[in-house]
Amino acid sequence: MKIKRLSPHVADLIAAGEVVERPGSVVKELIENSIDAAATAITVEIKNGGLTYIRVTDNGAGMSAEDAGMAFLRHATSKLRDARDLEAIGTLGFRGEALAAISAVSRIDLLTSEKGEKEGRGVSLDGGTIVENAPAGCPEGTTIIVRDLFFNTPARLKFMKTDKAEGAGVTAALLKCALSHPEVSFRYIKDGKEEYHTPGDGNAESCIYTLLGRDFAKSLLQVKGADENVTVTGFVTMPSAGRGNRGGQYFFVDGRPVKSKTLQAALEQAYKNSLFQGRFPGCVLYLDIKPGAVDVNVHPAKTEVKFLNEKGVFNGVYYSALSALRQSSEMPEIALPTDRVILSSPGKPDNSGERPGRAAGRPPVSREPSGITFPELSSALPVRDETRIPYRTKPAAPPEKPQRSEKEQTLQKEAAEFRVVGEALSTYIIVERGDSLIFIDKHAAHERIIFDKLRAEGYEAMPQLLLTPLTFELGPAYTELLMENADLLGELGFEIDRFGGGTVALRQVPGGIEVEEMDVFLSEICENLTLGKRPGLSDTRDKILHTIACKAAIKAGKASPAPEMELLIKRVLSGEVKYCPHGRPVSMELSKRSMDKNFKRV
Ligand code: ADP
Ligand code: MG
Repeated sequence: MKIKRLSPHVADLIAAGEVVERPGSVVKELIENSIDAAATAITVEIKNGGLTYIRVTDNGAGMSAEDAGMAFLRHATSKLRDARDLEAIGTLGFRGEALAAISAVSRIDLLTSEKGEKEGRGVSLDGGTIVENAPAGCPEGTTIIVRDLFFNTPARLKFMKTDKAEGAGVTAALLKCALSHPEVSFRYIKDGKEEYHTPGDGNAESCIYTLLGRDFAKSLLQVKGADENVTVTGFVTMPSAGRGNRGGQYFFVDGRPVKSKTLQAALEQAYKNSLFQGRFPGCVLYLDIKPGAVDVNVHPAKTEVKFLNEKGVFNGVYYSALSALRQSSEMPEIALPTDRVILSSPGKPDNSGERPGRAAGRPPVSREPSGITFPELSSALPVRDETRIPYRTKPAAPPEKPQRSEKEQTLQKEAAEFRVVGEALSTYIIVERGDSLIFIDKHAAHERIIFDKLRAEGYEAMPQLLLTPLTFELGPAYTELLMENADLLGELGFEIDRFGGGTVALRQVPGGIEVEEMDVFLSEICENLTLGKRPGLSDTRDKILHTIACKAAIKAGKASPAPEMELLIKRVLSGEVKYCPHGRPVSMELSKRSMDKNFKRV
């Protein structure tokens, strides 16, 4: 056998594969170059998922005629002079490989002009070979058009997914770039259609609004935190906006989009007990880390980062997210539809006795779906029947007695801040405060209060010995898993035995979980174990506490005694209780303004 050196051409193709995996990575590299060139406006256009056409135009510094020809050589970079520079990762990638790699596997047109120059430069390449290099008229900045990606590497081309999937990859890559640079205006054109155009005014919020949409932007809480290691700014979503996956989590370290298990875990830890299991918070978080404390240049195309101080970064994100959640005074507003609603006159009922709005010749009542539905106005239903209101506090009337003790006065003042209108549908307490009506889900609120109390008091497993062991057919895999973790489960109050084959027997269980629920509980533990998550003591404890709290909380449907209710209302109104332990909101606000609008009073 003879050792042969790969031809430079083949070597380039191999290297290209490392940097340029798909259209999305091409777009990312080109945008990073534009940002390095101090562009403030970048247009990205793609066709066929970027496979046939990618154009990136910027208004950055541009290149001189000489540089334009050099830019595509391997290890050609204006950003790195010697090995020492490698340590400073102020700018984005700078390995001098991207343009060389992209040009090796595509057909490229470059048009560039330096600021203040009369003439620009046009360079065209085919599979890495320059086929044209001539003066060209063009505006200041740089345009790079990449055509027929991977035309000369059929193996890689075969590896490409559908245009649609590759296009989605470009969209995702671009989204991250755009989110990390609110100060740059991004315009994205896909198959001839403009997808978005960010303002580029440096305001992260307006950028997020444009890129991630109104609903996402509306669900955000501002985050601001700093310690000696890391500064964390940006936004996290309100717990009520939990999503089914982690798709709404965007992290940026020193301006670069990154993936990191540490950051993800820190964020999610902050939402413990305010989100359903299996729901995930969203975020757009920008971290600024002390120089030298992060290793991001692991691989040119990889975004996974390593932190030298994992714990410090974890704490930074965890505490700043937590404090954002605590400070939020979120009470979701009930959005009444503002247009396309034809409210029928609630005046005299028709002589036919039919319900208003349903009588012949009238337009039907049309409703947009909204947070709540009002009962239809019906002549059969008394609009105001004081006797039906099950519970009232003192109305905010002027004091009757002239003399009052100070204590009485503060109580009165507190009570005057709100008025309980009543309880409706045996589920909701309706409170009037200021210019709003507040609807409280009494079960959810109560559950939260009990949960917090139990947690504050500390919970002991208080195992219950079972008279007859409970057996569960879990199959061999789950059984094995549980047996391997028998010690841990023991600490939680479980005593578990193998009962032959794929069956386990529980002889003792933690107090507070109903026997009927043990089934679900056990399979959840198994699922977590399969996912490699050991049921942490505190997680499992919290879970048990949820169950207890849910059991102990006043059930919707049950009438509730007044003093308990009053306390509950105060705690909700003070903002102390916002979500049930599963992340459902406990209250909603309906403003008078919104009602007035709908009744066409304003
Ligand atoms: P790197 O970015 O690591 O330096 P690239 O291959 O991505 O390597 O780019 C090579 C060089 O080409 C850059 O260092 C820069 O000087 C120049 N360049 C690339 N894109 C642009 C651009 N959009 N505007 C100005 N100069 C650019
Ligand atoms: Mg580059």
